[in-house]
Amino acid sequence: MANADCRPVLPGSTVGVLGSGQLGRMFALSARRMGYRVHTLSPDEDTPTGQIADLEINAPYEDLNAVCRFASAVSVVTFEFENVPAETAAAAARCGPVRPSGSVLHTTQHRLREKTFLQQSGLPHTPFRRVASLEDLARAASELGLPAILKTADFGYDGKGQYRIRSNQDFAPAWSAAGEREAVLEAFVDFDCEISVVAARALTGQFVHYGAIENQHVNGILDISIAPARVPPAIARDAVEITRCVLETLDVAGVLCVEFFVAKNGRLLINELAPRPHNSGHFTVDANFTSQFEQQLRSVCLLPLGAVAQHTPAVMANLLGDLWNSREPAWQRALEIPNVKLHLYGKSEPRPGRKMGHLTALAPSVEQALENARRARQALTA
Ligand code: AMP
Repeated sequence: MANADCRPVLPGSTVGVLGSGQLGRMFALSARRMGYRVHTLSPDEDTPTGQIADLEINAPYEDLNAVCRFASAVSVVTFEFENVPAETAAAAARCGPVRPSGSVLHTTQHRLREKTFLQQSGLPHTPFRRVASLEDLARAASELGLPAILKTADFGYDGKGQYRIRSNQDFAPAWSAAGEREAVLEAFVDFDCEISVVAARALTGQFVHYGAIENQHVNGILDISIAPARVPPAIARDAVEITRCVLETLDVAGVLCVEFFVAKNGRLLINELAPRPHNSGHFTVDANFTSQFEQQLRSVCLLPLGAVAQHTPAVMANLLGDLWNSREPAWQRALEIPNVKLHLYGKSEPRPGRKMGHLTALAPSVEQALENARRARQALTA
């Protein structure tokens, strides 16, 4: 099998990215800086990744011939979007190395498989039940208690495919809104805060991480990430150890992010896994010696992982399409604030809820960075 190929992919080679959003764009920027060529494949045109890549291939993920041609023309394939069909990853793997492997993708792209993996591995996770019918939903709700959240098993991210259930009255509308297909019911966690750990692992077993990151969501979408997280050191240490265990158990070669709830009783519960760089790790581009994207490149190319040291506290604020509100944000006002960096993803259509870019504020303390990030974002629409 092509994945058994353990030779490093050296600068000058071509790497392939399945998916073409902002994560692929920032990966491509890192890769090009280190002298690699980049190809990307997705169903879309003029994409955030395609604007940076040497070659943008426009094909549906289901076009397995196109996927095989794409994989044959590069030295290694990685992905920036885990919701590609399993057959796509399998077709790529038949034609060249894919990292992380299709099996990591298969586990993490489906909530039920992911939660079953966590349960079988003895890793702490939110209580859940499988739901395949309206009757299952009623039974699961009586076992877990209400409130709870119904989440579709596949193709969910940024709070999409999620329905809050507060009383028995919500069962039928939620089941219908979820498309009457396989789902999980999750107990609602009364959390103190949410944190994540972004980590990278090499095929040799080398493991690096960026510590605990504190995340604030609005309407199910990440709004602000604070690094380092303002949690007790023991919680940050436990989160890192759980993350190490996840990457080792899944045998990941690449970057993976673990999202946690810190419950009111101090327990850590895994909410989700993302087998790629993560929105909460964007600050690493400006604040760390090696960014999460360079780490992805190094790990999938079988190069030594880079030092992760963070130069300075950092806060990342997402810029959603809502900020445009019929006129261009006032970029120069945000940039007047010292140590604020602007990242835009090259998307031409600023739809509400769409991630268009982010700001990173760097400061001697996280409180100062938080204030500067908020001030900079407000200045865009002042
Ligand atoms: P997800 O797409 O599953 O990461 O959910 C997006 C956000 O919704 C999370 O980051 C939480 O803020 C919230 N959320 C999701 N599941 C739960 C839960 N079981 N209990 C409480 N809040 C949740």
